[in-house]
Amino acid sequence: MKKYDIGIDLGGTKVLCAVVEKDKINNDCKRKILYEVKKKTKKEKGNKKVLAKLFEVLEELFEISNLKKEDIDSIGVAVAGQIDRKDGIVINACNLDLRNFEIKKILEEKYSIKTNVFNDVEAAALGELILGAGKNHRDILCVFIGTGIGSSMIINRKIYKGASGSAGEIGHIIVDLNGRNCSCGGVGCLEAYASRSAIESRIQGAIKKGRKSIITELTDGQNISTKYIKQALDAHDEVTIQYVNEAIEYLSGGLASAINFFNPELIILGGGLIQGIDEIYLKTIRLAKAKALKVASEKTEFKKAELGDYSGVIGATLLEEYSNVF
Ligand SMILES: [Zn+2]
Repeated sequence: MKKYDIGIDLGGTKVLCAVVEKDKINNDCKRKILYEVKKKTKKEKGNKKVLAKLFEVLEELFEISNLKKEDIDSIGVAVAGQIDRKDGIVINACNLDLRNFEIKKILEEKYSIKTNVFNDVEAAALGELILGAGKNHRDILCVFIGTGIGSSMIINRKIYKGASGSAGEIGHIIVDLNGRNCSCGGVGCLEAYASRSAIESRIQGAIKKGRKSIITELTDGQNISTKYIKQALDAHDEVTIQYVNEAIEYLSGGLASAINFFNPELIILGGGLIQGIDEIYLKTIRLAKAKALKVASEKTEFKKAELGDYSGVIGATLLEEYSNVF
């Protein structure tokens, strides 16, 4: 086995591509990021443009690392979308406008390096299971709260997929029967209440109705990113506090339901909102435990995801060696 893998995290706003060095010390798996290239993907939509971008970052990565394709063991690609893992095809990725994108075939033909493709949330969950917060646990729920809410269920150290491969979608459990529309086409899903974009649209709605908020000055009309939400909370902005608290109420309710239903020994929380704002993480845990059945929550531990921004690239490189977790 060669020493290096390439991990690619392909998302709707950026692509992060890295050379990852692998190591095994006393059977303990280690991964280290050696070189990385990051580019925006906001303008790249559709198979053709995304592919051109991928080639661009890969060429740059080979150049800065001084490595040849013969030095690379495998390429792992994590994509936010629906994936046919066996054939390495992105069936559908809405935020990049990808349809039936045969990424495995294309990359293997061009570079002659074994390529694996999988979903970004699965990649992050695999990373946490092997190298991160889930290293010493068996039954785990991973929940990533950012622009949307992604999650993955791990049972007996295997990623549980269900009949059609979509198990563990906590973002789309229904928390309000007559509630808000969700990006999935459903009504009242948790994601429409507890994600960063849910908080963003609530704050924007309040400002439109004439409420005063520091967000207006901070963002200057831009998206309300986690950074701005944090600054507004630190400045005791009433509107932001109200809608962040509302999101925490829903999120903790959703997690309490998951605890009652699944009774995992560990819940790993990650994603921009959790990594960026400690008070959201801590309050969510406290409320989720309080709302769940006592006997169910007694043995459920919470941990923060440990791989952060690199969960996708590192997780993607683990697939070659740890395909047995699926
Ligand atoms: Zn939904």
